[in-house]
Amino acid sequence: MGLEEKVPSGFLLSTVEALAGFARKGSLWPASFGLACCAIEMMSTAGGRYDLARFGMEAFRASPRQADVMIVAGRVSQKMAPALRQVYDQMVEPKWVLAMGVCASSGGMFNNYAIVQGVDHVVPVDIYLPGCPPRPEMLINAILALHEKIARMPLGANREEAVRAAEEAALSA
Ligand code: SF4
Repeated sequence: MGLEEKVPSGFLLSTVEALAGFARKGSLWPASFGLACCAIEMMSTAGGRYDLARFGMEAFRASPRQADVMIVAGRVSQKMAPALRQVYDQMVEPKWVLAMGVCASSGGMFNNYAIVQGVDHVVPVDIYLPGCPPRPEMLINAILALHEKIARMPLGANREEAVRAAEEAALSA
């Protein structure tokens, strides 16, 4: 009897996916995308006091091609939106987005024509973090929530397709 007949259906695949998820969540490469005051707290999180290195992601990359997570730290102006989308498109798959603070999540207090009312109008967002600004502990908590999401992500999942399918399902519901 072959190995595939001895083990339960899907056992090997789910084990490999669990291993891949474990490796991915412990080795994230953030793109530098500080846009406003929230970025000060993000930089603080990467410093010695809060020690983001404990979670395997202290090295912020200047090149999007070397990054797989974007922390949008601050309000997004209409002029910045195309550049933000371009950086996102250049990041490697699989990739994730964390909206840090109320401004990035919803426009916050800047309810005006100059500011994008939520970065999810520009890129798909995985985690929304409230606060003005969120403290480093809150950012770390959001990153841990992102870790859980990453750990459950199936191998070979195309994020754009998954986001599009979820949006279509929401529209047709
Ligand atoms: Fe600045 Fe507050 Fe907006 Fe963050 S949420 S960018 S701290 S105004």
